[in-house]
Amino acid sequence: MKKSFWFLLVMAAAALFVLAACGGGAENNDSGGTEEGTENTEENTETEAGTEDETAAENSGDEVVNLYTSRHYDTDEDLYEKFTEETGIEVNVISGKADELIERLEREGENTEGDVFITADAGRLHRAKEAGILQAVESDVLSENVPENYRDEDNQWFGLTKRARIIAYDPERVNEEELSTYEALADDEWEGRVLIRSSDNIYNQSLVASLIAINGTEETKVWAEGIVNNMARDPQGGDRDQAKGVAAGEGDVAVMNSYYYGHMLNSAEDEEVKVAEGLEIFFPNQETTGTHVNVSGAGVINNSPNKEAAVQFIEFLSSPEAQGEFSEANYEFPVNPEVEPSELLQSWGDFKEQDINLTQLGENNKEALMLMNEVGWK
Ligand code: FE
Repeated sequence: MKKSFWFLLVMAAAALFVLAACGGGAENNDSGGTEEGTENTEENTETEAGTEDETAAENSGDEVVNLYTSRHYDTDEDLYEKFTEETGIEVNVISGKADELIERLEREGENTEGDVFITADAGRLHRAKEAGILQAVESDVLSENVPENYRDEDNQWFGLTKRARIIAYDPERVNEEELSTYEALADDEWEGRVLIRSSDNIYNQSLVASLIAINGTEETKVWAEGIVNNMARDPQGGDRDQAKGVAAGEGDVAVMNSYYYGHMLNSAEDEEVKVAEGLEIFFPNQETTGTHVNVSGAGVINNSPNKEAAVQFIEFLSSPEAQGEFSEANYEFPVNPEVEPSELLQSWGDFKEQDINLTQLGENNKEALMLMNEVGWK
């Protein structure tokens, strides 16, 4: 008896020691929610140039911006280089999944070297604000370049690019007249025909959050149930895989973000180009509440040691030069009203956007996720 007591005591002490020694490491291993897993994987496939830099630059003399970002696009890297060329300020990129970066910044607190936080979803930007890792920024340039509906009401984050959640379809099997709204995809006529990715993906969570804002929770739950019934297969893969599923005849319509369609049309892989060229795209809810739109955006980190450079950096990303580049090279819609979308994007035509405050995507996120789980959206 006595022996086992001492044994347990020693084991407990050893366990405590180990825990204390690798506390930080253990937290790093925590995936911090699965939502971004698939998103990130998909975004990672868009570029081989995803810089991983674990340590923020310990800068004393030269000007620098330490950027925490979950975006992984070549375009972004090119823009950072341009910013450095124009201002002499280095951009030091720390890449990661949005939730992990938020956790890291919470943990670093006052000791952070982080200056700017960027992520690809308004829901997550809101989450960063709620976590207290951002600060309000007063900037005439940003007020002018970023319309009110694309920025936080307290100016803690600013949208930089817009993306629409559209429907891609095979024109041989679907007549454009059959398409109308997200809501209608839950109707019986779409049984076994809808391709959409999993509920752990933030883009779908934000779509559902927006429908909760517009139609209420009960109605949205019934809708989600209908979508699950109409799925052509269990959700798998990223947005592009839904389009590929349509091309392969697994389903007739795919729900996807607009820029992925642009990427596929201009892909280095012939197969992706072929898939995209065989599909048509449709902006849902034009006669009703407008197409669901989300933003990528940036905020200055609460304890930023280089605040002035941080603001300058975000201002640059909202400038006509950078906004044009986001549109040309990454197929995203500019938020700056002075900037025309690229020719390709213009060829898709004007469209009406959902008229909701983007903060609601964050506020309704938990409810959206719960509701999707309840109806068995995998
Ligand atoms: Fe994406």
